[in-house]
Amino acid sequence: MVYAVPLQRLNQIIMKSTYHRSWAEPYKIKMVELLRMTTRAQRLKAIREAGYNTFLLRSDDVYIDLLTDSGTAAMSDQQWAGLMMGDESYAGSRNFYHLESAIQKYYGYQYIVPTHQGRGAENLISKILIKPGDVIPGNMYFTTTRLHQELAGGIFADIIIDEAHDPLSEYPFKGNIDLKKLDQLVQTHGAAKIPYVSMATSVNMAGGQPISMANLKALYEYTRPLGIRVIHDMTRVAENAWFIKQREPGYEKHSVREIVKEICSYTDGATMSAKKDALVNIGGFLALNDWDLFEEARNLVVVYEGLHTYGGLAGRDMEAMAIGIGESVDNNHMHARVGQVEYLGHKMEEYGIPIVRPIGGHGIFVDAKRFLPHLSQDQYPAQALAAEIYLDSGVRTMERGVVSAGRKSTGENYYPKLELVRFTIPRRVYTQAHMDVIAESAFRVLKRAKKIRGLKMIYEPKYLRFFQARFEPL
Ligand SMILES: *Cc1c(COP(=O)(O)O)cnc(C)c1O
Repeated sequence: MVYAVPLQRLNQIIMKSTYHRSWAEPYKIKMVELLRMTTRAQRLKAIREAGYNTFLLRSDDVYIDLLTDSGTAAMSDQQWAGLMMGDESYAGSRNFYHLESAIQKYYGYQYIVPTHQGRGAENLISKILIKPGDVIPGNMYFTTTRLHQELAGGIFADIIIDEAHDPLSEYPFKGNIDLKKLDQLVQTHGAAKIPYVSMATSVNMAGGQPISMANLKALYEYTRPLGIRVIHDMTRVAENAWFIKQREPGYEKHSVREIVKEICSYTDGATMSAKKDALVNIGGFLALNDWDLFEEARNLVVVYEGLHTYGGLAGRDMEAMAIGIGESVDNNHMHARVGQVEYLGHKMEEYGIPIVRPIGGHGIFVDAKRFLPHLSQDQYPAQALAAEIYLDSGVRTMERGVVSAGRKSTGENYYPKLELVRFTIPRRVYTQAHMDVIAESAFRVLKRAKKIRGLKMIYEPKYLRFFQARFEPL
């Protein structure tokens, strides 16, 4: 018998299709937003005017925007329809009650206070729980989270496992907490000085690395008898749940939805930036299980955000959030979401671009120390690399290194071990072809890496300097 395709090749194809099934987006496109393409000369002018800080570029000058996955998601038709269901009453909007029931249903927390975004919730919980001189352990810092802790008089202590600081470590749960480090803090300061552990799922600054369920359980078993609370930064909890499903024995058959709820059950409350996982352009909340804390939060939110049934949001924003939360815990959504990030990561690895391993949930983190080994950290290698990538292709990324780390309250610079450029992928926004263009641009810049010069900071704002700092080439 004669085969059009040789038998051996046919078997290979059959084998491949048996074991490998590609992911694809569980949605189709209903509307598109046109992008402006720029020339290199236009981009050079734009990045100079922006002081070599990608945060200061106008988005009209950007082709593919990977600055952040925050508030950049494409909402579904259901969410857009939800906007029209906005009940804009000052108090007791029906959308608030829908949001409250979505949070109870999908996350399991009892009481909620909406806030305009994540940092609004961080402000409330820090003010309520932290006394001056308290120590707040966390699995790596996040910029706004730590700043609110410090503004409330607290001292942040990093208790993430050492592997998290090593971009080459393949450890599958680099978001884990080192309980020995936590115990050391308890021995030194006493449990009374530690109001809570600030635990993040999918640790942003470590490269979107997950925490394991086993670690969470062990943490809760350790903290509960000591009266130390666990406050969950749940900004990317569903992405973390996806990694638990993929990597943690015993969870293969659990749904993202079940895993998300189990994660939350080992914590006492949560702050949420709904602009990430929850697929909205604005919104957040503080969730609590303790009525007394909730009473305080409900009181305080009136000062900073708005009445406790809207917290700085329009009714329509709360409706879109309630719908987005449900969509975010869907297995197929998460498969495509993380699948797209992994696609970009593998492509970059094929080109030899040094990235943080394992590939995280919300973006690819390029290791600027290995990309530009000739630059010292005082020459802002990650900042310089982000500017170069923009110049090459109009792809906007951001620095996550010494500029983002900022200064201690004493004025000294923090020198983080990780000096990264974050290629953050907005949810449901770009296609696989966009991913190809991004990886090719990073490769082009890599080929001329030796010629890239460092930067000098010429303007430094007092708080969260990475947002507004300005630079000049050395
Ligand atoms: C974005 C983010 C926050 C802050 O939320 P905003 O909505 O930007 O105020 C807190 N924690 C983590 C991990 C985040 O990624």
